[in-house]
Amino acid sequence: MAIKRSSKETQTSRKKPTTQSSAGNSEERLLSAKVTTQEPESNEDSIRPQKLTDYIGQKELKKILNIAIAAAKGRQESLDHLLLYGPPGLGKTTMSLILASEMGVNCKITAAPALERPRDITGLLIGLKPGDILFIDEIHRLNRMAEELLYPAMEDCRLDITIGKGQSAKIRSIPLPPFTLVGATTKVGSLTSPLRDRFGLIQRLRFYEIDELTLIVKRTAAILGVAITETGAEEVARRSRGTPRIANRLLKRVRDYSQVKQFDTIDQALAAEALDIFNVDARGLDWTDRLVLNTTIEQFNGGPVGLEAIAAATGEDAKTIEEVYEPYLLQIGYLNRTHRGRVVTQAAYEHLGKTKL
Ligand code: ADP
Repeated sequence: MAIKRSSKETQTSRKKPTTQSSAGNSEERLLSAKVTTQEPESNEDSIRPQKLTDYIGQKELKKILNIAIAAAKGRQESLDHLLLYGPPGLGKTTMSLILASEMGVNCKITAAPALERPRDITGLLIGLKPGDILFIDEIHRLNRMAEELLYPAMEDCRLDITIGKGQSAKIRSIPLPPFTLVGATTKVGSLTSPLRDRFGLIQRLRFYEIDELTLIVKRTAAILGVAITETGAEEVARRSRGTPRIANRLLKRVRDYSQVKQFDTIDQALAAEALDIFNVDARGLDWTDRLVLNTTIEQFNGGPVGLEAIAAATGEDAKTIEEVYEPYLLQIGYLNRTHRGRVVTQAAYEHLGKTKL
């Protein structure tokens, strides 16, 4: 299987633009689920699982895709178009590469922000070989023109190109080989319905359980040649916010620490010590997560309080709090969103060692 990346994608998609200014910094934090600029893509490639059997967790997804692969192979057809949605770092790109490997085809990887001009997407489509997979990350960000080029390509393996302008414009149809579009998105609700409707399979990726993340940490440690105990791996897993990309990143930081301290095996105490130094606490919260919770408790008696008020009191950008910090706090039940505002839960009070007044 060959992995091809469009050169433009490497320039643009790795610095995923966000709508707010301070989110730029939040993406660089150790606990960001996105790829950071200090983390070259090649770094991830070496630890990506290559086969479906190495892909840990996401049992439901694997079951469905196993059936789809067997059926497509049996009919000697390409896989149906697939939309994968869920937070970053959960394994959407990895799954696309695995599908290509299982089907014995190539996978071309790109991202919607790299498909600004019609020729960006036509170039990719024309270069496809029969059965190939085209992976488009952040597919909800495709512009209208790119989307409209995709519709006949997805439905009828046809590329409709407009030649000329105004009244003399003509449409020329170019046949395409059958291919599979794998779209990935963190915001499935932002996809237009005509695009969403053209996917035969729409699957959600879930946050990983601690035992699954522990397996991922142990697998990555083995690839990196790092010795780690079961409880050491579990400690890293517990602090990884349900996200394999974070688990792998934290493991690397713990590895650095153990190397400098000249330990040959990472155990639970060492993992905890290292991650405490990096300011990642026992539940995977960092300084800003704790700031948001502490401020809500200390200044607003734990809520309910509006997002804007929390933003003003913490000095953080409201959108960044909402999109970067809150999802995990909501997921682990430390914060509730009510119609009257945000409320810090009892579990968060206990975690922070505080008593509700
Ligand atoms: P996404 O495309 O959803 O942002 P990726 O597919 O790039 O996420 O995954 C991020 C990293 O996490 C990969 O480098 C891979 O090593 C690891 N990873 C993701 N899912 C799994 C999994 N199910 N099992 C093992 N490792 C995984």
